[in-house]
Amino acid sequence: MKKTSRRKFITHSTAVGIGSVLAVPAFAHLLSENNFVSSFTNVNNTSFDQTPLSYAYNALEPSIDATTMDIHYNKHAGTYSKNLKDAAAAEGVDAKTPVEKVLETVSKYSAKMRNNAGGHYNHELFWKSLSPADKTGVPSEKLLGAINSSFASMDEFKKQFSEAAKSRFGSGWAWLIVGKDKKLMISSTPNQDNSLMDIAEIKGVPLFGLDVWEHAYYLKYQNRRAEYIDNFWKVLNWNFVSERFNSI
Ligand code: MN
Repeated sequence: MKKTSRRKFITHSTAVGIGSVLAVPAFAHLLSENNFVSSFTNVNNTSFDQTPLSYAYNALEPSIDATTMDIHYNKHAGTYSKNLKDAAAAEGVDAKTPVEKVLETVSKYSAKMRNNAGGHYNHELFWKSLSPADKTGVPSEKLLGAINSSFASMDEFKKQFSEAAKSRFGSGWAWLIVGKDKKLMISSTPNQDNSLMDIAEIKGVPLFGLDVWEHAYYLKYQNRRAEYIDNFWKVLNWNFVSERFNSI
């Protein structure tokens, strides 16, 4: 209820031109954009701590090997969580704040906050969006309908998403995101950025993302990122992605 009121206030203020009272009218637009992401309250609940994996390190083999999962979860992602807490303590952010809220105003904080709040959030979502190949389920009718509506077919969606993941230069992520009007879009971000950030070119709520940093695949695939991406589809947890889409 509080969020709805705030949203109405911001929309109203902008619409009737109270923006002219603000020093920078463009800022009102930014607030409005951020507020659109904030409105997806059901998925704004990521804590600063790591969630335990719901499967064993070797459960995603042969798509993703056990050693990669162990190092990726405990070392890489563990460090993002720790550094996020350090940055939050240094910059006066309450450690109980949902990470989503930090991301939506991330331009106010340091590069350390941006990299580690993003890194922690992205990995928390990544682990949940993976599952053993025999437990992935299938996309719900609602999700499949939205995919067909935005990309014509599942095959075409996978092709476009894979292309975004393959062509991301250097380190980063490919995403399926829900934008305004609940339309699905594919996006790609560098480093640990994501579409919740106020600095993102394409804003929306991520349904799932694919980590294409070399640390995510190099031990098994070396330079063969395309093969990693092809095998990722076998362990994408459609049950989780469908539930997430249904909840927003
Ligand atoms: Mn990673």
